[in-house]
Amino acid sequence: MPKLLPRARSFLAFFLIGTFASLKAQPLTLLRPDRVFDGETNHEGWVVLVKGDRIKAAGPASSISATGAKVVDLKGTTLLPGLIEGHSHLLLHPYNETPWDDQVLREPRSYRVAQATVHARKTLMAGFTTVRDLGTEGADYDDVGLKQAINQGVIPGPRMVIATRALIATGSYAPKGFSPDIDVPQGAEEADGHDRLIQAVRRQIGKGADVIKVYADYRWGLMGDAKPTFTIEELKLIVETARSSGRPAVAHSSTAEGMRRAILAGCETIEHGDAGTPEIFALMREKGTALCPTLAAGDAVSQYRGWKKGTQPEPERIRQKRITFKQALDAGVKICFGGDVGVFPHGDNARELEMLVDYGMKPLDALRSATSVNADVFHLADRGRIRPGLLADLVAVEGDPTKRISDTRNVRLVVKGGAALAP
Ligand SMILES: [Zn+2]
Repeated sequence: MPKLLPRARSFLAFFLIGTFASLKAQPLTLLRPDRVFDGETNHEGWVVLVKGDRIKAAGPASSISATGAKVVDLKGTTLLPGLIEGHSHLLLHPYNETPWDDQVLREPRSYRVAQATVHARKTLMAGFTTVRDLGTEGADYDDVGLKQAINQGVIPGPRMVIATRALIATGSYAPKGFSPDIDVPQGAEEADGHDRLIQAVRRQIGKGADVIKVYADYRWGLMGDAKPTFTIEELKLIVETARSSGRPAVAHSSTAEGMRRAILAGCETIEHGDAGTPEIFALMREKGTALCPTLAAGDAVSQYRGWKKGTQPEPERIRQKRITFKQALDAGVKICFGGDVGVFPHGDNARELEMLVDYGMKPLDALRSATSVNADVFHLADRGRIRPGLLADLVAVEGDPTKRISDTRNVRLVVKGGAALAP
């Protein structure tokens, strides 16, 4: 649940009953915030006209006719495009509640789906109207039904771009550490080599994957360290098979060599990228590969392992992450917004926005990442900006997050497809 100011909460209750109860039935609604961040820049004094599920107009109040429109006063707020979470796992919940291994091996899938329906609602109410959900982590194709339930209005939730099971090289992933005499179910689908990989990619697509996620490296080195998994030929095959159906492939990768292979193979985003180097980031810039740094996940995991943030010095992992993220920024790499939410609580997605700023991005750039940049990188041409003709996915927050990023937490109103929702 977003942290609503009490004032906002009571305002909202009134507002929903009084104003938005039948938005869709009304031909036109004029939203009047203090300012509009359109996905790229901030505009003081702009208003936004919504018709049905689309944005009809946006611009200075004097330039837009409010004739026949229901006027909604959003004084004190900034109106933004609905935020786009770039890396979620709606079928996971925080590891300090239940370790990842236990979620995969001990939780019934029905329980995980029940949890996911709550996660979906919390995500939407926090102003995140789209998520790129990068893998069910052992819950097979349960993201397909979750997406369907949201799209059919059975449960509230964000629009979903889904990866289904994701692909791993045999033996590389997890859960690990069991007797070699038993086969332990894995958090993603194992496949290797020409025919098996083509089949796995096509099977996932056939069952509903919008994007193919591949683990280009994982902690399976001799010392339990991260090492590359698939060969570059295998990665190219995955990318080519996905791309021929019009779908991108994206790569989990934290090592320089895993990243290099994934970039050269044509994966469109690199997830995590912790041990990237200036050379690797230059390559990403050259190829147009985007980095989804998942700063909040590393931060959360370090705290789960005992780091007392704020009172103890930053652990080596965090110190290194600050350095490599800065290198990526300096190299001009496109930065996706995506926190790996699920590792930390759903609905707390703004944590990654705050961390992007803490690690060196300007608030305006962090907001661009979470709106127009993610829309462009994920091929979502119908959202991510406030422009005539695009989906009326909008969020109004108290204050001005282009100056103070944590204002994204002060959600007053969420609109998805022209319909207003109460946090
Ligand atoms: Zn993830």
